[in-house]
Amino acid sequence: MKLYSTNLQAEEVNFETALITGLAPDKGLFMPKTLPHFSGEELAALKDEPYPEIAFQLLRRILEGEIDEESLKAITYDAYDYDVPLEEVNENTYIMRLDRGPTASFKDFAARMMARLMQYYLKKENKELTILTATSGDTGSAVAHAFYGLDNIRVIVLFPETEVSDRQRKQMTTLDQNISALAIDGKFDDCQAMVKQAFADADLKHLNLSSANSINIGRLIPQTLYYFYSYLKLRDYPEEIVFSIPSGNFGNMMGCVLAKNMGVPIRKIVASVNENDEVPIFLTSGEYEKIVPSRNCISNAMNVGHPSNLARLIAIYGGVMDEQGNISKLPDMEKLNGDIFSTSVTDEDTMALVKQFYEENNIFIEPHGAVGIKGLMDYRAATNDNTLAVTLETAHPAKFPAEVKSAIGIEPEPPQSLKEIEEKEEHMEFLDTDYEKFKSYLKERLE
Ligand SMILES: *Cc1c(COP(=O)(O)O)cnc(C)c1O
Repeated sequence: MKLYSTNLQAEEVNFETALITGLAPDKGLFMPKTLPHFSGEELAALKDEPYPEIAFQLLRRILEGEIDEESLKAITYDAYDYDVPLEEVNENTYIMRLDRGPTASFKDFAARMMARLMQYYLKKENKELTILTATSGDTGSAVAHAFYGLDNIRVIVLFPETEVSDRQRKQMTTLDQNISALAIDGKFDDCQAMVKQAFADADLKHLNLSSANSINIGRLIPQTLYYFYSYLKLRDYPEEIVFSIPSGNFGNMMGCVLAKNMGVPIRKIVASVNENDEVPIFLTSGEYEKIVPSRNCISNAMNVGHPSNLARLIAIYGGVMDEQGNISKLPDMEKLNGDIFSTSVTDEDTMALVKQFYEENNIFIEPHGAVGIKGLMDYRAATNDNTLAVTLETAHPAKFPAEVKSAIGIEPEPPQSLKEIEEKEEHMEFLDTDYEKFKSYLKERLE
């Protein structure tokens, strides 16, 4: 696999380099130059396999020559040891629940695979790495869990002591082993600034610090796999399918675009956003304008005014967008609009849908999943296309108890993974926002 940078000013690299470096040296995002194409026959042969086997069979082709098959198989089965339910709403609508991983978020799919692939390459080269990450809640717990118990990698998570919920904090502090949690007496921005300063600090170069941020190609590739899986379970090739994806940074949706390029017969990709509507506006007008600051909506993991994966979407349709969001070459807008339908959903409609869905179908959804469902309804109303559709639920409803309760009056039961942490012992250290103290902490721990 050869990967290029979306800024087109960096040399092509292999998968290992793209995975370990994260961002290309010209500040662009890595994109695979070519991907395998799966024929109808190849897809049909996988139909009856369980999730980890389908994932492995796809990855061995996608990552051919980058990792030995035996290791890849072990990694894939270890990463995907949980269910991926497809819940029927009616005969042509299904919900794919991506909320059964250890942190009850779809981010587990990407983070667990990326972590294990990193471990594989580090071990092979006998290297060690420390991941530093600042979080306002959810990303930190998904990253911490993904790397938990792995060799050659430590994780240090910084979080604002008073700004995360009890449950979010416990997801980071009850792990221990190779995971350290640092409660900072400050705001999320202070945590972020301390981490950035550490990355830029020449005195700390020898500590081999890295970030596991969301733009890593190692997170994108695993997000292609569940589109294949749900297609295989619900359709027979070459029947078509529609996917509706609640989107913020558009990583999940990019996974769907790549799955389509690799052969899944996707009729339409519905990219549903909250009131941060810069992408639907761009698709209809060809004019791109970031939303600064981003709008605060209840589907808070999607409050993004400039999606980091947009440069990838534009690249795959023949355009060029730099890291600031400037477009120097417009993509093929006709093709883009042919493949993708994007729509914005208000908070009011989001909450109404959480309620309606429970009343009509007896199904719990949370605000992000509701944006996906409303987007599908908008698409069907606009096109009269009733092709079988899968809409993605990206978090467990129990992760948003207050919102779900205010919509329907009942709190959803938390899954086992969230219940377990209630009884576990917490381990954390406390620091203020003084960078020098943080620096001494890192040196004491890592030297
Ligand atoms: C991160 C996240 C999203 C948005 O995914 P992107 O890949 O950033 O578009 C949607 N829902 C939940 C619950 C998330 O955590």
